[in-house]
Amino acid sequence: MRRVHNFSAGPCTLPLEVLEETQGEFLNFADIGMSIIEDSHRGPSYEKIHQNALSSFRRLTDLPDDFTVLFLQGGATLQFAQSAMNLLAENEMAGYVNTGVWGQKSLEDASRVANVYEVWSGQESGFTKTPDSNELNIRQDTKWLHITSNETIGGIRFEQFPDVDIPMVADMSSDFLSRNIDWEKFDLVYGGAQKNLGPAGLAIVVVRRESLGKHGRNLPTYLDYQFHEKNDSLGNTPPMFPIYVMGKVLDWMEKNGGLVEFERRADIRSSLIYEVIDKSDGWYSSPVATGSRSLMNIIFHLPDETLENRFIEEAAALDLINLKGHRSVGGVRTSLYNAMPVESVEILSSFMKDFLKSNG
Ligand SMILES: *Cc1c(COP(=O)(O)O)cnc(C)c1O
Repeated sequence: MRRVHNFSAGPCTLPLEVLEETQGEFLNFADIGMSIIEDSHRGPSYEKIHQNALSSFRRLTDLPDDFTVLFLQGGATLQFAQSAMNLLAENEMAGYVNTGVWGQKSLEDASRVANVYEVWSGQESGFTKTPDSNELNIRQDTKWLHITSNETIGGIRFEQFPDVDIPMVADMSSDFLSRNIDWEKFDLVYGGAQKNLGPAGLAIVVVRRESLGKHGRNLPTYLDYQFHEKNDSLGNTPPMFPIYVMGKVLDWMEKNGGLVEFERRADIRSSLIYEVIDKSDGWYSSPVATGSRSLMNIIFHLPDETLENRFIEEAAALDLINLKGHRSVGGVRTSLYNAMPVESVEILSSFMKDFLKSNG
């Protein structure tokens, strides 16, 4: 069977074990005589999958009881506005840290439905670093601060989460469950599943229970978090297939050592690439400030575009694929999410060294 080394930024590579297990039980799930996606979402088989996924998520993240976990549709994109609608009353405001493409989008969408402002912008520095806490211009009476923990396109992350005296709301789509989360600091954390946790079609929202139901708005059913929280995310038909596969990914993560292990693997994988960049005397170059380097999405350039294109072509010939940088930043981007095997990154790292030797 052919399996490439898939460095896609999302959707992305998933654990082979999980895919095989899914395939094996697809036509006849647990001897019910049909696939799980044909069964009722109110039946005992799906109910078990659903509750297991919720509890695995809680165990893995060491989630305190005062948070609830919601499984929603609409991706992380819907959460840009939905989180603001649910956590801000008409007369309240929130501050947004604009660290790049995703930080900007969250600010724009939230501003369509609530009173929000920019506390910091990375525009001047070309979105190549995340701010220190003392650079944030947080106005008085700001209810909470929104951050993007990892900017998937710019390749930067908050190595330390900001140290502020208001709660935070975070888009963790592209580094979800790749590191420990200090829940004390957050009122809400959200992310799409398709980067670190499973197939597309599912967003996970983790929200402090006491912050719910205070918005005073007349929200449509689906947009109100309380509807989902009251119904354990089974108020309407949930995205059964992504939840089912994510449940398997979460089990796989637990079996493999949990967040501590995945944090360690993220360090190993990213170091394999950053080391080649740092030892290349500037032949491979990263625009990102050292203290803000993402462990999930690594962006780098070669001396010119012709070399970059050749690099991507020759890599693809070795089944190292999806390495083209996002059209807005160019260059090369390698995404190293939870399920990316260290061996695949070793192959990429060797290829980078070989390519430098023959072209540098
Ligand atoms: C991919 C991504 C999104 C968008 O996610 P969708 O599920 O496609 O809406 C938002 N934020 C970040 C940081 C991302 O990486």
